[in-house]
Amino acid sequence: MKDATKVTRAGLPPPKQGEPFAPGPTFAAPYHAAGDPSVVPNTYGRFHNPTWNAFEHALADLEGGEAVVFGSGMAAVAAVFGAVLRPNEVVVLPSDSYYTTRNLAGGYFTQMGVQVRRAPTVNDSQLAHLDGAKLLWIESPSNPLLDVCDIRRMVAAAHEKGVLVAVDNTTSTILSQRPLDLGADFSVASDTKALTGHSDLLMGHVAGRDAALMTQVRTWRTQIGAIPGPMEVWLAHRSLATLHVRFERQCSNALHIARFLAARHEVSGLRYPGLATDPAHEIASRQMRYFGSIISFVLADRDQAERFLSACELVYEATSFGSVHTTAERRARWGGDAIPDGFIRLSVGCEDADDLIADIGQALDKLRGE
Ligand SMILES: *Cc1c(COP(=O)(O)O)cnc(C)c1O
Repeated sequence: MKDATKVTRAGLPPPKQGEPFAPGPTFAAPYHAAGDPSVVPNTYGRFHNPTWNAFEHALADLEGGEAVVFGSGMAAVAAVFGAVLRPNEVVVLPSDSYYTTRNLAGGYFTQMGVQVRRAPTVNDSQLAHLDGAKLLWIESPSNPLLDVCDIRRMVAAAHEKGVLVAVDNTTSTILSQRPLDLGADFSVASDTKALTGHSDLLMGHVAGRDAALMTQVRTWRTQIGAIPGPMEVWLAHRSLATLHVRFERQCSNALHIARFLAARHEVSGLRYPGLATDPAHEIASRQMRYFGSIISFVLADRDQAERFLSACELVYEATSFGSVHTTAERRARWGGDAIPDGFIRLSVGCEDADDLIADIGQALDKLRGE
C-alpha cells in the first residue's frame, strides 16, 4: 500500500457496523480493574490508554517498528538518552543538532556522568568520534542549518563498533526518510512539527525494532510520566490522515520559494536540500523522498532580518516549523546556534505558492535603500 493511502487508515480499527471510523479519545485516570491487574488491559492512565494505542499502531505501521508516544519531542529525546545512557558512557551528538537536545546532553546528562562528543553533521564528521561510544545521535537534515549526512553509512560504521544509533527524524518526517529501514536502532521525532502540522499541539515519539530497548523506552515514559493527553493524541491521529497531502504541498511550495530566493540579491547563504546547487543535494536525493518544508537563508544583518519579518503579511513571525501555516523567524534571537545575526529559518506551509512568493518578494523589496 502506498503511503498516501496508508496515512488515511493507519491505526484505525477494522470496520464495525454502527461504530465511528475513529473511536473518540478515552479520558481516564483509573480504569475499572478489580483483582489481578496483569490480566486487565487498562489499569491506570500513566500506564495505558486506548487512544495512545491506536496512534502508536499508526506510527508503528509507518515506521516499520514498535512506537511509543510522548507528551513532546523533547520527552521522546530524553527517553532515549535516559533509557540508554549510563555514567561514563559516551554519546556522539551533531554539533549542529536541535539546540535543546544539545543542552539536555550537555547539562543534565553531563552532570550525571555521561560524556558528550560533538561533531558537525556535514561530511559525516561524527564518524571520527565513535570509538568506545554507546550512542550515536543523528539529525538529518539538521535544524536549522539543513546539513545532511549519509545515515546508512553512519549506521554501518557505528554498528561495527557496537554503538547504538538514534535518528532525530523531525525535519524529514517518516514519509520522506525511514530511519529503521536505514538500520537505525531508534527513530525519534517531534510530532509537534510536520507530522501533526496544525500548530495546535506538542507531541513526540520513539520507534524501534528491538523489543528489549523499546521496553526500556516505554518503562521510562511510565516512570517519568512524560505521557501525552488523550485529546492531543486523538488530534494527532486525526492530523496524520492528511500528512501526505500536507507535506507534498509544503515541499513543492518550498522548492518554488527556494528557487525564487536563489535569484534575489538580498539573500545569501541559501540552503534547501532540493536545490540542485545545494551542497546536501546529492545525498539528500539518494536518502530522502521529499526535500522537506524548511528553507534557511541569510539577510545582511539583524536589522534587515527584523525588517523583512515585520514586512511579511502572510508569513507569520513565529518559531517551530512543519505547519500548514508558513512561518519564519530570525533564529539567532534564541542564541546557541552557530549562525549569523541575519539568519532566517523559513517553514513553508500549504498556502498557494504564488501568494507566498508575492508576500516574501514584497517584504524583500522593502529592504532596498531604506
Ligand atoms: C522541535 C524539535 C525537537 C523538540 O520537540 P518539541 O516537540 O518542541 O519538544 C527535537 N528535535 C528537533 C529536530 C526539533 O526540531
